Amino acid sequence: MRLAVSEEHPVSAEFASPWTNLVTFAEPTAGWSAAGRGLTQLATAMAGRGHGAPLPAGDPTEVLAAVAAELGRAQLPEQGIGAAAALDRLADVIARYGIDLTHKLTAAHLQPPPLTVAVIADALASASNASLDTYDSGPATLAIERWAISTLIRLVGFSDAAGGVFGPGGSYSNLLGLLVARDHTAARHGFDIRRHGVRALPRPVVLCSQLTHFSIHRACAALGLGEQAVRPVPVGPDQRMIPEALDAELAGLTADELPVAIVATAGTTDFGSVDPLPEIAAIAARYRVWLHVDAAYGFGSLFSDRLAPLLTGIDRADSITLDLHKVGWQPAAAGVLLLSEVERFASLSRSVAYLNPDDDIEAGYGGLLGQTLQTTRRPDALKVAATFLTYGRRGLGEMLDTCHDIARYAERRIVAEPQLELIAPATMTTVVFRYRCEDLDLDQVNAELRRRLISSGIALIGRTDVRVRGDGAARTCLKLTLLNPEATETDIDALFDQLRRVGLEVESEGLPDGQDEMVTARD
Ligand SMILES: *Cc1c(COP(=O)(O)O)cnc(C)c1O
Repeated sequence: MRLAVSEEHPVSAEFASPWTNLVTFAEPTAGWSAAGRGLTQLATAMAGRGHGAPLPAGDPTEVLAAVAAELGRAQLPEQGIGAAAALDRLADVIARYGIDLTHKLTAAHLQPPPLTVAVIADALASASNASLDTYDSGPATLAIERWAISTLIRLVGFSDAAGGVFGPGGSYSNLLGLLVARDHTAARHGFDIRRHGVRALPRPVVLCSQLTHFSIHRACAALGLGEQAVRPVPVGPDQRMIPEALDAELAGLTADELPVAIVATAGTTDFGSVDPLPEIAAIAARYRVWLHVDAAYGFGSLFSDRLAPLLTGIDRADSITLDLHKVGWQPAAAGVLLLSEVERFASLSRSVAYLNPDDDIEAGYGGLLGQTLQTTRRPDALKVAATFLTYGRRGLGEMLDTCHDIARYAERRIVAEPQLELIAPATMTTVVFRYRCEDLDLDQVNAELRRRLISSGIALIGRTDVRVRGDGAARTCLKLTLLNPEATETDIDALFDQLRRVGLEVESEGLPDGQDEMVTARD
């Protein structure tokens, strides 16, 4: 293989040479060691090139333009440039312009630093390129997914009748969960949605808290229920669904309305608050309505003795969404949908002549094609199995407890800081707060403060809108999502020092674009 090295992207000789005999395909063992060696070489070549910050400093437009320039003309080259130059170019932009989730001041989203063992296992999954649809698309990974699902089922406390499937994330698991709920509920009322579509269905209703994730609305739209099917139930000051309000909604449904599901959130994205699952489960049972628990964020609490009580009652759900690429420290994606009864995947079952004809299934050649909407599907369970075996429940629980401790520490710092106002305390690993000052619009100040922290490459923190004083108006708040168990109190101190410094800077310089003239008396 001849290595063509472009002028703008010179590759040092010692970096380039071993790449010339790179095996072409990722064959077992030889391919793995080539991939491993390749990563080692990239790591060496990239040493010192990183930005050393959560995000690269600079204005987003300039950063994106710089990356585009590095990548060069967007055209499939007639002649390839070879692995050395290609990987060097891409690793270079990742190092210089990517996100560093392991940075101690990265605290914006439910996007954790990935565990090294999971990254290795994920590379192994890529190298196998197995799929999960049938036995002959990869027996080992099929068994690994079943093992991981059974492990999760036992952790929840579901019976052996339960089942589940991996997928690309919480949004997809919510879609799949509501699809199964829709079809199951419709079947109970004599409607076959798969055959006849949703037209025959009476007015569908999906009850969830005001703070439900937006993917529930999207799922309702995609499933033909319409976003107007979503019936938001109010939350209390603790950001948890008020069960009496749910009960009242159900009692008030008219004869032509069909409750398709109740969606309880176990770990709201902003607050980590968990809807009262035992009370909601009792209501769901009384009205015979499907209970879906969106535990995309909160599920990981089950790893921790301290936080597991938050999820008491989750075993009474009909379906559960969980994301191990949040609390679980997996590289995305590691989403799962669990069903209390595996039989309820029925409306997704398919027999396809070239994949899983009935006689093959009977002979044991089937796979998981009938439990999801995907066909080819990568073995995400491999990294999860590696992680579970490596750390056990206790190891993962300790990581979560450490993040929880750090969040509690951040909460105390906020309370002690006169310039900051605590908006919502830490239930799990998020804390919501506001920067306060005189004479400027606080929504704009908080938004500007966050942008400055990001664009100066200091820290990456989150923002959200919260109805602060129950007066109905949403206020721009700041949010820390703390998922790095290696962050310490000293890091949190540094974060607040920077926050105060940049806050004062915004106060003294005023807001850009004349925003500072828009002083309001809202606060
Ligand atoms: C993150 C999240 C989702 C969406 O999950 P993705 O994996 O990002 O698709 C759904 N629900 C809740 C509560 C979440 O926090």
